Amino acid sequence: MNFENNLAYAQALDSNDPLRELREEYLFPKQNGKPFIYLCGNSLGLQPKVAKEVLNNQLSNWENLAVEGWFEGESPWMFYHKELKKLMAPIVGASPEEVCPMNTLTVNLHLLMVSFYKPTAKKFKIIMESGAFPSDQYAIESQVRFRGFNPADAIIEVKPREGEYTLRTEDIVNSIVENGDEIALVLFGGINYFTGQWFDMPAITKAGHSIGAVVGFDLAHAAGNVPVQLHDWDIDFACWCSYKYQNAGPGGIGGIFVHQKHFSDSSLNRFAGWWGYKEKERFKMEKGFIPELGADGWQVSCTQVMPMALYHASLKLFKKAGFMTALRNKSITLTEYLFYVIDQVNIKLGKEQYKIITPRNENDRGAQVSIIAKENGKQIFDALVAENILGDWREPNVIRLSPVPMYNSFEDVFRTGKLLLNLSKAEK
Ligand SMILES: *Cc1c(COP(=O)(O)O)cnc(C)c1O
Repeated sequence: MNFENNLAYAQALDSNDPLRELREEYLFPKQNGKPFIYLCGNSLGLQPKVAKEVLNNQLSNWENLAVEGWFEGESPWMFYHKELKKLMAPIVGASPEEVCPMNTLTVNLHLLMVSFYKPTAKKFKIIMESGAFPSDQYAIESQVRFRGFNPADAIIEVKPREGEYTLRTEDIVNSIVENGDEIALVLFGGINYFTGQWFDMPAITKAGHSIGAVVGFDLAHAAGNVPVQLHDWDIDFACWCSYKYQNAGPGGIGGIFVHQKHFSDSSLNRFAGWWGYKEKERFKMEKGFIPELGADGWQVSCTQVMPMALYHASLKLFKKAGFMTALRNKSITLTEYLFYVIDQVNIKLGKEQYKIITPRNENDRGAQVSIIAKENGKQIFDALVAENILGDWREPNVIRLSPVPMYNSFEDVFRTGKLLLNLSKAEK
């Protein structure tokens, strides 16, 4: 698009935005009485205004129904997760049976690896991206040790080429194929948290399956951000958190996906608990675990009603937005506008003060732009915060800015560029 770098233009884009009213559904943090321009939804999404009400409703259910709440009231807790499953499915391109809200992200990654990392003496390796989120590195490392292997032998990390920041799909695919005989599991992030790169999930899945490996994804930064099609892409399993792009609150409930083709595989290991037991017979309390069919069979503990109520409320706002299509359309342009205003800052400064490391191609990124600040990065970042623009800082010199289509505006992006330019001039 041929963008313009002025307020009237940004406001015109906002008035043409079919999703502009969704912003009113969220609470923005304030500083000195003024709301922040919030560009940190990749880390913790904003609170929906209804959040307090839905929590209060559940507190009232608990107050008035107590244990009867499991079977009585408007949405009995016993079946509450089913309402979420219906709303989660369109966000990740799955059927409701293939998804389930439960636990938290890293816990779910462990539970799914128990089932889907099936190493043998010869085929025991896991291939992943280098620079993955630390929790994933620790989970994978400890799972490898748990199965009696040495992480140094068993983990292959695909690295960017010399002088590059992101991975090339051909390099990922080649590494998978070259190590095909030894790889048991291909486990990538959907979007890398640091660079914002959206990996070519279908190509990675195809390559993994071509060598007989299982393929899983951590969608922490992808779910609710980009339109993934987990079922159609034939991905074996995935997990995500709900508190980043899905706005379900700090420590919010996690989600899992298990492809339908695995539902009747009784050879899969599980770390089981009563809530994953065949639902109709759970309360017979019998010996010998029989899993419920589908993703629900991976549940361990009873329904976490409070965090689920928050996730439910935020998912209803995704439904209001028409799930991913309109959000993604806005997101493509909104993030492109952020690339543009940062380019304009560099042009006006007469040098590449801010190096963009996130891929520009819309197929390779979501709603995040990571920039390397070449000079005075931390001072400029702190000054942005002091002036009510909240992004996030990663040592040693990276600023991540996420214009989230659910609640950010083109005006937010314009103002960010303008302030970045002014502060960069002042710091010279
Ligand atoms: C945010 C994030 C996590 C956080 O995991 P929790 O278990 O929810 O604390 C893990 N992995 C990735 C890739 C993330 O981006």
